[in-house]
Amino acid sequence: MPEPKKLESQSTRVLAVRLNYGDDLLLSLQRIIEEEGIRFGCLTFLGAVQRGVVAYYNQKERKYHTIVKDEPLEIASGIGNISLKDGKPFIHAHVAFADSEGKIFGGHLAEGTIVFAGEVFIQVLELPQPPTRKYDAQTGLFLW
Ligand code: ZN
Repeated sequence: MPEPKKLESQSTRVLAVRLNYGDDLLLSLQRIIEEEGIRFGCLTFLGAVQRGVVAYYNQKERKYHTIVKDEPLEIASGIGNISLKDGKPFIHAHVAFADSEGKIFGGHLAEGTIVFAGEVFIQVLELPQPPTRKYDAQTGLFLW
């Protein structure tokens, strides 16, 4: 087995952001990292959404399937990272939503998730050469 890929950064820049009611969660995060010129980093977020959309990657079919829950949900947990894809900053985020009974569902955060309230911390990692996502034949995914 090959060694896992390891990268080290001595970064201290952290952004705290409050998201706007009604914004698309993923597109809003994407806009922030583009505006801030963040090319590598990690993020955590929590809050609530008016509607949740996640994608599930079917490993056999190598395709994403979308799951939509059109109801108010808590963001029980949100986590992601930032890297480059096609030369542009790219967010990869996963989320766990909780419904009115506390039941969790989640997956890969997709467009169409509408913010009710959101708090985000972004840790910016500086590296001379930030990692770039490339197609990985073993998984069918774009990995760094
Ligand atoms: Zn994912």
